[in-house]
Amino acid sequence: MSELSKLEHRDSFDIPETELYPYYDPTPRQKGSYRLEDFIIQRTLGTGSFGRVHLVRSKHNLRFYAIKVLNKARIVKLKQVEHTNNEHGILELVQHPFIVNIWGAFQDCANLYMVMDFVPGGELFTLLRRSNRFPDPVAKFYAAEVALALNYLHTHGIIYRDLKPENILLNHDGHIKITDFGFAKSCRHTYTLCGTPDYIAPEILLQGRYGKGVDWYALGVLIFEMLYGLPPYHQPDNNTILLYERISRGPLHIQWPAGFGERAKDLIIHLMDVEPTKRYGNLHRGAQDIFAHSWFAEVDWDKMTKREFTAPYMPQITGEGDASAFECYPEDNASLTYGQAALDPFGYAFPGFEYRAPSAY
Ligand code: AMP
Repeated sequence: MSELSKLEHRDSFDIPETELYPYYDPTPRQKGSYRLEDFIIQRTLGTGSFGRVHLVRSKHNLRFYAIKVLNKARIVKLKQVEHTNNEHGILELVQHPFIVNIWGAFQDCANLYMVMDFVPGGELFTLLRRSNRFPDPVAKFYAAEVALALNYLHTHGIIYRDLKPENILLNHDGHIKITDFGFAKSCRHTYTLCGTPDYIAPEILLQGRYGKGVDWYALGVLIFEMLYGLPPYHQPDNNTILLYERISRGPLHIQWPAGFGERAKDLIIHLMDVEPTKRYGNLHRGAQDIFAHSWFAEVDWDKMTKREFTAPYMPQITGEGDASAFECYPEDNASLTYGQAALDPFGYAFPGFEYRAPSAY
């Protein structure tokens, strides 16, 4: 298999840290009240370190949803309690056309459950690997929608921290929905070493204080990856030491592929600046420096926000609940363990998740 066609997901990682400088405390919106019995589990859409995401169908309105299931014991063991509570709290708070919508969250003895809209078009990652690379206008369309979503999060005091094509889903109309808020945090600055190696900003590696600039840095990496097919400092052998060295040296050392557009190159260099105080998105004009950049010259940002542009790729969806755009995962009977009565030593740790034991006991 050639390097470009590899469909291997890149894992995110984090080294847990105590939260410092909390910025503001989100007040959750009122959402629905659910329990596992309200749904019929259809299949697995994706897997993560703490559980999996299932396509489910509501027994009441017969509509399809995605439920992210997270194992409480695993979350506690891997010191991800705060991140998981952040993920839920932030998803309840945000509402944006390019961000996945959550309907509610609950827990039983062993697991947490987050009920979200099912986004049927699959991952941008899959589309990109199948296409090898995107033509300039296609990359621009997705980059513009991502930039609007990031700007929305930042103006609400949220840093996303895990931008990558794997976390960008395509809706039935081809517009994006960003998912996986596992590293998102309501704060102005933070210190935790986390992210996905290819997308980690140099200041995160320095293990000092960093802020929303890390998301703009990742947008630069994303634009490069969409236009070229691989991230700028890609190491074929996953040599992270070499990767981190190159990230620290900065974009002036990128080996630009022949024919790479000058305007895109200029924007990427400004987004990937090693020095956060000089990086686009982080200067006194904020995201305006990005929106007004010449690579985005033909983008009408008002229309883009209102989704008035037709998306460049229309997912082939045969009907509601069609999940053929997602890879197949071994089912492993994971769902048989859900909703079982058991000791619950971690019930206290996730107060935002409504306790909904199955009605049989
Ligand atoms: P996560 O653990 O949140 O990164 O989710 C793992 C994978 O599940 C994602 O990369 C997607 O492929 C899939 N997924 C997550 N949320 C949804 C959703 N709302 N609709 C469809 N697929 C999803």
